[in-house]
Amino acid sequence: MPDSYEVRIPIRTESISLPEFNVNGLKVRETPRSRSEDRRASDKRFEFIANFQAEQDERDEKTKEMHERAQRLSHIISFLTGHGVVAETPLKTYRPDSRVRITETSGATVIPSDWENFFVDLYEVLEESDEIDTEILRALRWFTRGLASEHPTDRFLAFWLALEIQVKAQEKSADEIDPNVEDPVEQAMEAMRNGIESDYVKSRVNQFIAEAIRDETIPEAIAREIRETLGENHSIVNNELEGKIRSFQSDRSDLVHDGDPIDEVKSKASTLESYNRLLLKRKLDPVFVEEYGSDMFPDATEVPRATALQIILADNPDGLTKAELRKEAFAATRDFQQTARIVELLGPHHDLENLGIVEDSVYKLDRDGPVFVCPVCGDEFEVVFALIRHLTDADAVETDEGMDYHSGEHGEWRADQELAENKREWREVDSWVTKRREKLRADDKE
Ligand SMILES: [Zn+2]
Repeated sequence: MPDSYEVRIPIRTESISLPEFNVNGLKVRETPRSRSEDRRASDKRFEFIANFQAEQDERDEKTKEMHERAQRLSHIISFLTGHGVVAETPLKTYRPDSRVRITETSGATVIPSDWENFFVDLYEVLEESDEIDTEILRALRWFTRGLASEHPTDRFLAFWLALEIQVKAQEKSADEIDPNVEDPVEQAMEAMRNGIESDYVKSRVNQFIAEAIRDETIPEAIAREIRETLGENHSIVNNELEGKIRSFQSDRSDLVHDGDPIDEVKSKASTLESYNRLLLKRKLDPVFVEEYGSDMFPDATEVPRATALQIILADNPDGLTKAELRKEAFAATRDFQQTARIVELLGPHHDLENLGIVEDSVYKLDRDGPVFVCPVCGDEFEVVFALIRHLTDADAVETDEGMDYHSGEHGEWRADQELAENKREWREVDSWVTKRREKLRADDKE
């Protein structure tokens, strides 16, 4: 069954006022925002609204088709009126019929009206904060531009730029380079780069020079930034990270320099989007203060939503109303989508009892609910998450060579499970515990 889609295509023009009309699935209209503003007649802004039917997988193709149609129409209008009328890059395609929920896929995201305080509060802090670097603000701007672009290649480029901006300052360790060497080396580098045809040789030369003058390549700098910002334990921080970023960089340069289209550009753009989102969440720390400050999820590892709900309630033994919970969840996740998913667990389709939650006038963790027992020392925990954290960290000690996770009796247990000695294995412990959830309950002990 095909769905109905709608997409807005902004019109760039000057000193012309267009009538409203419909043709062939395209509607020309004044943008709703400009209509309410007190502007001069010549300053009006217009857009196309394109309507079409499509199966989910042909949506992008259809959007492109509608954009081409809009361009042809604007060519005709330009030709007839003598004014440049340009159909710009379409905005996001949405389903005009689904406007009720926050969804990840298509359909309009409608933010509930009682969430507006989140915008106001954070915006006010952002305006006043002098702790946010201009790089972060510029990165935000490109991140937003990426989100607003419909075309995956535009998204890819904007997200790449947003990422690059965030590491630019650390790209070179200039103080380690002898200033007498730096200039000639830069010139030689430039000459060499220009003179080499083969990308492979070029990248080898770059690599060689980079090592020689202790310069960091951009992918190295981005990978380091992600590692340092998110911590070694985050799921995206792994051995493949740097290689992945390096391949994105060569995708970008092949596109920009040779016009080669990027393979699987849609999924690559999403990956870059998520890198940016994760970094910006941390870098905007100074904005998330007071009731939005939260150290609830200190683990860089992603926390499942049921666990998140339990942790939040465990931290608030007197219970929370739904609105309070929403605020706590937002502070902890800094993410509307995640918050919505956590709050959704209180809805009628979910079994609160099974999550160990009781509902009275407020939501509380059931103190008589299941208790989970550490298989090593027998300590009891009301929330599975706390047991996982305990099994991951207990008895670990800091040594000169970093952390040792094989020390003490919990360390022995971790060694038996073949968990790493020198790094925290939260995700592995999580899956170990989750599989044995029922067996680890205290009432099953006797
Ligand atoms: Zn224990």
